[in-house]
Amino acid sequence: MASLPRHVAIIGAGLSGLCLALALHQCGIPATIYEARAADFVQGGAIALSPNALQVLHKLGIYERVRKKSYKYQVLTFKDDQHETTDVYYFGHKKFHGYNALRVSRQVVIEEVKLKLSEYNIEVKHDIRFSHVISEFGDSVTFAFTDGTTSSASMLIGADGIHSTVRKYMYPTVTPRYLGQLGIACIIPLSSIRLPKKDYPLPAIISAKPGTLLVLPQQIDGSEVLIQVSLAYPEQSREGWHALNARTDEMVRLFQKDMHAWPDVVQSALENVNEDTLFTWPYYAVPRLEQWASNGKRVVLIGDAAHGIPPSSGQGANQAIEDTYVLASLLGKLCEKLDLAEALEFWQAFRQERMDRIVKFSDMMQNRRLSPAERAKLPESAVWRGTAGDTEQMSWLYAPDLERVVNKMVENRGV
Ligand SMILES: Cc1cc2nc3c(=O)[nH]c(=O)nc-3n(C[C@H](O)[C@H](O)[C@H](O)COP(=O)(O)OP(=O)(O)OC[C@H]3O[C@@H](n4cnc5c(N)ncnc54)[C@H](O)[C@@H]3O)c2cc1C
Repeated sequence: MASLPRHVAIIGAGLSGLCLALALHQCGIPATIYEARAADFVQGGAIALSPNALQVLHKLGIYERVRKKSYKYQVLTFKDDQHETTDVYYFGHKKFHGYNALRVSRQVVIEEVKLKLSEYNIEVKHDIRFSHVISEFGDSVTFAFTDGTTSSASMLIGADGIHSTVRKYMYPTVTPRYLGQLGIACIIPLSSIRLPKKDYPLPAIISAKPGTLLVLPQQIDGSEVLIQVSLAYPEQSREGWHALNARTDEMVRLFQKDMHAWPDVVQSALENVNEDTLFTWPYYAVPRLEQWASNGKRVVLIGDAAHGIPPSSGQGANQAIEDTYVLASLLGKLCEKLDLAEALEFWQAFRQERMDRIVKFSDMMQNRRLSPAERAKLPESAVWRGTAGDTEQMSWLYAPDLERVVNKMVENRGV
């Protein structure tokens, strides 16, 4: 009979690493997190959390804490340049998916998970950078950090993001693929936008000749909004991206390109670009990987390290969080019926099927965000469409019964 991993080492204290440690703890598996950044590093920006991830945060005991600090919403409204609603995209509706969607500072979620971890005395070691796997043998893996120290664990989980170093152990030559698009965003007060009417629905995606502008409320009361455009841009080296991020004048120029071709609501947003909060976001994705676990099954990738996806579905963090619950639950069943290979095989099969569907959906959503002229060149089936009346919309994504999935696997496949 297989036994629970004695101790799991997690590389990375992003959302996937932190949530995994908590989920493993609930399954009786001890873990230590190793994070390259300093303990006082503050991750800026807000993220949108959909019901599939919120059900996991609920199970981990932090949903209420996060909800209280979030902006709540249900749909993202697509508007054309005449202010007509063209599509309605559910991001999470309590009635249909169990939870409303939340938009919340990433740092808030990180701090809430860390608080829970400290209640259980789960250690997050900061200022330590994973370097490489030294050996994987039997039920143990030994690995090294860049400061020359080493450690061993019964499993090593790479939760170290889209540019993962742990992934190099299994895929030395795989690198994330640039998708040719750059996002430029900043945060401005909602009051600085000339909304055409008082009850203009937000969040919104406004389409016009130059492209689309995202307007995403944040802060509990939605008093701030993130505005974001995406545009075609040549790939840069890592240093090149950093240099662009430091060139405020160039970012503002790109942001305000074709400014007069946008409707007044967008022009007002672009007139008020806040240089202090400007940032760029080049879109990368991890090529589809055949295996998220090493041949010896002691090294596993989760979150963006395993399946970093294009941003248009808004599911990167949500999927990273989903990973953690399913993986921890299956590892927690090892001593009952499953062996490790079987548990990992099922985990990836279930999660990969969802990721494949999300990537397809993401492509359609990306096409929906093209300018009307570019969109018109595509077949209708390549572009996402949705209406408010379609209450089943997105249930496949937002309302999976993760507990049932895990139990079914154990019942059907266990020895
Ligand atoms: C601007 C922006 C907005 C986004 N908005 C959304 C959104 O609204 N909804 C959504 O679902 N997703 C969103 N995403 C995507 C989301 O942020 C990612 O999918 C998610 O953060 C992945 O989590 P992760 O824990 O796998 O990786 P990460 O968050 O990248 O965390 C990886 C961690 O590993 C650490 N690390 C890296 N290398 C090492 C090493 N060698 N040793 C030790 N530690 C290491 C890093 O310092 C980091 O803390 C957004 C992304 C960006 C850039």
